[in-house]
This record gives sequence, C-alpha cells and structure tokens, in this order.
Amino acid sequence: MQTHILGYPRIGSNRELKKACEQYWTGKIDVNDLLEVGKTITQNNWKLQQEVGIDLIPCNDFSYYDQVLDMTLTVGAIPERYQEIAFKKSETDLYFAMARGFQKEGLDITAMEMTKWFDTNYHYIVPEFQKNQEFTLFSNKIIKEFINAKQAGINAKPVIIGLLTYLLLGKEKEEGFDKLDLAQNLLPVYIQILKELENHGAEYIQFDEPFLALDLNEKAKETYQFIYAEIRKQFPKLKFIVTTYFEGLKDNLSLATSLPIDVLHIDLVRCPEQLDEVLKTIPETLSLSLGIVDGRNIWKNDFQKSLHFIEKAVQRIGSERIFIAPSCSLLHAPFDLDSEKNEDILSPEIKQWMAFAKQKVYEIVDLKKLASENPDYNALQALAENKKAIENRKTSTLIHNQDVKNRVDVTTEEDAQRNSPFTIRKQTQQEVLKLPLFPTTTIGSFPQTKEVRNWRAKFKKRELNAEQYDTLLKQETERTIRWQEEIGIDVLVHGEFERNDMVEYFGEQLAGFAFTQNGWVQSYGSRCVKPPVIFGDVHRPNPMTVYWSKYAQSLTQKWVKGMLTGPVTILQWSFVRDDQPRSLTCKQIALAIRDEVNDLEKVGIRIIQIDEPAIREGLPLRKSDWQNYLKWAVEAFRISASGVEDATQIHTHMCYSEFNDIIQNIADMDADVITIECSRSQMELLNAFADFKYPNEIGPGVYDIHSPRVPSKEEMVELLKKAQAVIPAQQLWVNPDCGLKTRHWDETEKALIAMVEASREASEEFLKKEKLKY
Ligand code: GLN
Ligand code: ZN
Repeated sequence: MQTHILGYPRIGSNRELKKACEQYWTGKIDVNDLLEVGKTITQNNWKLQQEVGIDLIPCNDFSYYDQVLDMTLTVGAIPERYQEIAFKKSETDLYFAMARGFQKEGLDITAMEMTKWFDTNYHYIVPEFQKNQEFTLFSNKIIKEFINAKQAGINAKPVIIGLLTYLLLGKEKEEGFDKLDLAQNLLPVYIQILKELENHGAEYIQFDEPFLALDLNEKAKETYQFIYAEIRKQFPKLKFIVTTYFEGLKDNLSLATSLPIDVLHIDLVRCPEQLDEVLKTIPETLSLSLGIVDGRNIWKNDFQKSLHFIEKAVQRIGSERIFIAPSCSLLHAPFDLDSEKNEDILSPEIKQWMAFAKQKVYEIVDLKKLASENPDYNALQALAENKKAIENRKTSTLIHNQDVKNRVDVTTEEDAQRNSPFTIRKQTQQEVLKLPLFPTTTIGSFPQTKEVRNWRAKFKKRELNAEQYDTLLKQETERTIRWQEEIGIDVLVHGEFERNDMVEYFGEQLAGFAFTQNGWVQSYGSRCVKPPVIFGDVHRPNPMTVYWSKYAQSLTQKWVKGMLTGPVTILQWSFVRDDQPRSLTCKQIALAIRDEVNDLEKVGIRIIQIDEPAIREGLPLRKSDWQNYLKWAVEAFRISASGVEDATQIHTHMCYSEFNDIIQNIADMDADVITIECSRSQMELLNAFADFKYPNEIGPGVYDIHSPRVPSKEEMVELLKKAQAVIPAQQLWVNPDCGLKTRHWDETEKALIAMVEASREASEEFLKKEKLKY
C-alpha cells in the first residue's frame, strides 16, 4: 500500500507567494527574488510530505499563477497577440502577460480569459486554440521541478494536466474545428516531456483527467483510448497514474479501467458509492488510488469510515494494488490549521473537528499505518483521538439546535409561495410604490473608499469605539442617500459601507458559522479567499441589516432598497458541513434570511433585494444532476422571499452568467425584479429572457462596473433601445451591472448621472411613440 498527494497548496503558510507576485508586478522585487520565494515554498512542501512519510510526493503542482497556464506555456500554445512580448521579454514576464494582460511600453494586450476550475472557486486561465494549431515544447518548467526535487532527495511524481483534459479546458478561437482534433498535434509534445522525465529517472507520472468523470461524447472517449494507447506504446516502463475527481466515473467506468495505465484515482468523497462498482470491474493490471480524505473541505477525516473503505478494497484486490490519497489536489484546502491560534476567532471545540492541508497529509499517512497488519502505538493513538473528535462533533450542542431542525421539518411548499401570482403583485406594487417607467436603481454597494476600509480596520483594532465607527458609517450613508436623491435615482440603496464582504457580513451574524484567521484558499493568481465555515444548524439570533436599512429609509421620502445575500450564495461561498446534505443546510439559511426579509418589511422597507450571484455556479458537473440541484436552490430562494405581502417588491441580482439553459428555473425564483450583468455582451444575454417571454421585471445592467471607464448617456440609451427590442418597456429597470464597491466616487458620480439621464430620455422617447400610436 502506498500513499500519495495529488497536489499541495502553493500560496505558502503566510501567503508568501501572493505577496511576492504582487511585489514583482509593481517592480518592488526582481525576478530572482520571486523565484526564490517559489523555490522556498516548494521545498517546504516537499520537506513536510517527506517528514510525514508520504510515499509519492508530487512535483510541478507548484505554480506562480495557475497550473493550466503553466501547461499552456509548456506546450507553447501562446496566442498570436503575445508574440512581441515573447520575443522581447523573459519567460516569466510573458507568463504574467498572458495571465494579466500587458499595458506598458506602448503595448496594450488583453489578458487570456479566466474561468472556474470545474465546480470549485479556483479560476484557471483558459487555453486558446486555433484550427490546425501546432505545439512545441516551449517551457521546461516540469523538467526543472523534477530535477529540483531530485536535488532535494526526492524522486518526485510529476503532475501533468492530462492531454485530453488540457484540450477540453480550452476554447476554440475560430470556427470550423473541434479542439479534440488537436490531440494528434499535441501528443508529440507530451511524448517529448515524458522522454525527458524518464531520462532523468522519473518512475511515476500523474495525469490529471477530471474530465473522465464528466459527461463525455463518443469522440472524446475514442480520443482517450487512442492517446493513452500511443503513450503506453512509447513508454512501456513508466508508471502512469490517471486521476479523476469532483465526480464519479459512472458511465465512463469501463473507459477509465480499460486505459493502458497503472493506477486509477477515484474520488470517494464526492462519489463514495462508486467503490463497489470499480472494485468489481477493475482489471488485474490496474492499481487503485482511493481518494478518501476530502481535499475540498476543512473537516477531519472519519478514520473508521475510511478504514472501512480501505478494508473493502484490500479484500478485493490486495493491499499492493492500493494507494491512499486525498480526493483531489489539496490546492482547495487552506494551508495549516496550526496557524489558527486565536481562540476568540476559532474556538478549540470547533477547531478539533478540522483539518487543513498539512493535517490532511498526516491523515493519509495515519490511515496507511492503521490499515497495516500491525499499526504502531502512535497510529493507534491517532485513531483514538480521531474517534473522540468525530464523536464530539456528532453530538456537540454547538452544532445541533432542535428548534432549527423542527422548523425545517414543518416548512411546507406554501412557505415557498408568495400570496399572489406576479401579475397581481405587480398591480399592488404599482399602487404602493408609484415608480416611474424605466425606474433607476443600483445593485447595492457604493465605493468602499480607503477611508471606509480604514475605519473598519481601526474599529477592529479598537482604535475606534463602536459609537465612533457607527457615526462615521452613518455620515457616509447619509451622504450617499443625499447624493442619490440629488441626481434623481428612483430606488435608493444605503451603500453597504458597514460590510466587509457580502457573505462574511451575514455569516458573522448567523448562528452556526465560524471564521478562521488564516484559512486562505487560492481563488485566482495571487487572489485568495477566506470562506466562512458553516459548522452547525443555522439560524438568525438577531436582525442583521434592519438597523442600517431603517436608518437609511428614515432619511428620505424615496424608497430605500433592503439588501441581503441569498441562501444559495451564502452556501456556495462557504466551507459547508459534511454531516448533512447541502440542500438541508441551504434550507436553514433560507429560513434565517426569510426572518430578515420579514423584519425589514415590518419596519417599512418595501423593496428588498436578495442577491444570488452564485446560483449558476452551484450547478452540478453532470447534467443529469442539474434539476435536482435547481429544485432545492430555487426553493431556498423562494423560502427566503415569500414571507412578505404582495406589495413588498422582491429583487434579486445575478452576475454575468449564461442563462439560456436555466431560464425556466430563474423564472421559477419568481422575484418581482431581477437585475443582471448584461452590458459586456451588449444585451445579448437578454435574448434568453426574450425567447422565454420572461414574465417579471428585469434590470439589464447598462454599464460595466468592472472598468473605470465612464459610459456616455448615448451609449446607455442605445442599450436601452436594444433591451426594448426584446423586452416590453413596462418590464424594464435601469441599473449598473453590479455593485459599485470597487469603483471610485468620481467615476461613479459621472456614470450614474448619465444613467439617470439615459433613463429619462428612454422614457420620453417611449411616451412620444405611444402617443403617436393613438
Ligand atoms: N449587493 C452586492 C453589491 O452591490 C452584490 C454583489 C454581487 O453581485 N457580487 O456589492
Ligand atoms: Zn453582481
């Protein structure tokens, strides 16, 4: 039996890589300093795994920005527009230019696109492909890392994105070909890499092929067979590990087990039920890597449960053919639980239930020891401690709240239903709210200036007391309300100055949430996020936003929109408990948000927005699982929104997403108004709503808040015309794409003034046309 790690976090225990990259980008350190930081992190990662006793230690799992971009550079898939940089600059600068764009020295080259890595919150740089594209071995990073590991005394296992997965992650940049057609051209480069690695003494190679666990068409399946057969032919001696994760093999099981490889890795956290089927069908020549330690979450492994899996596998195929591993790369787990030292932030009782990347390495090794004939004393000690922690978590009063469980049990379909259908609500809302045609609003946040962030920092450090902090925020809120009144916005917002982050702000006030000091996980490039931890039954002990909404509403005769984050988004952007289904946790959050919505209504807030920017990214990887997810996700939103009277208008907001395939579900959310990100696609996104005849009101974003550029009134009038071509004017709202928190005030002022003018002009033109009709 052997242990191995699929990949280790590379940001460093104190986010050293983030800091070094950002310093390098601003010219504060040179390339050697940067490379030195990278080297130290890698060496530390190796050393840890070596000391703990991992048998196969990965290399090339390190990356300065993204492992897919590394592969792009390795195989020389460098888009045309970077030719000049490739010619003039170092490999490192070319690499970062591809990741981040290059606006210097008279050049203005856009970055490559970025998108989510499967269903994680990690984002990779999307490879760009042309018809008949040629590949060459451009960067020898993989070889260098292998040699570095060797010098550190490790015969490492190079981690390489599988050829098929690499192609499937990319995007065809011209028409008339299929990216899979490029497999033939790409293969020689893979062979060259493998030759060099073999010459340097590599024994094991890990190919990451998560696509093997996703829906594949016939052509992809055939290409898998072809490519791996070719690779095997060339390398009879190398041992190939193919990893799958984030899903079960399901209908691709026979394909996966028929590949001429040596070890197949399966994810038993995401899909434990696949073990039996795999054990039944696995050929004798194939070893099995059991992904039993959750690489995506922060919970301690349940040793007894895992040992049961291992025993089953041992009985069936023998321990020599078994590898023990985390479910996927540990990239998605925070670095080290030992750095959580502040008991006021993370209580010892909750902390004992958790394991970060470093602790997971220990778990893997402990599991191997415990699965052996004669586990040593330390291993048995670890088992006893593990049992205790697992038992404590199962029964802890911190987690279990009978009232919450009871409330979920008595929640009915009716609770997810507004009193009347939209057509009736619309009339009532018109009578009460008296909004004009093309009403203007914003998505919620106003600029979080340096001062605002400074106040919060000082308040946290106790340099400002609660009263001082409150006064400053009130002043900022009042200024924002006055300014919106002045320029003539119809539905105002309070500005969200009191919030650090749209999930954390709510998590901090909900029961069942914990926070970490250092639980950072890479999101993209140097960006890291620190997700809250949902550890227990969720409820809302006290109102969360009523104070600020009520205050803002007291300042003005106009409507102020209440501003909440929706249950699915809170779930999606947190570490979620693994002792009950996600859908159940989501329902608990939904009920807590519902309480808040109802309380806002009670104090006279008649327009309430429940943001759900993450609803689409929660979609399962296999299409057959979509409807089940959408059913509970939509229901959760509706539970949160349906406790109010007809006259109270519920808004929701979603960031840029393809709505075509889920438009029915979006409509099922039954929000009175939905605001969406639309301006970058020039309103194309609206077609989905138009074709579907989306019945409720829509605010397609009329300008892009992701750029400092100030849009002109004319542009926005133009976009509103485009919108009216497909959606009736009476259904349209006018608003920016998303929240304004990352923008500066001067840009915001100019843009919103123009936006209000655009709405007025659109409205005048519309009324003129209407008159002409009669
Ligand atoms: N209300 C939030 C804001 O304006 C919405 C943010 C989001 O969509 N991600 O900041
Ligand atoms: Zn948004």
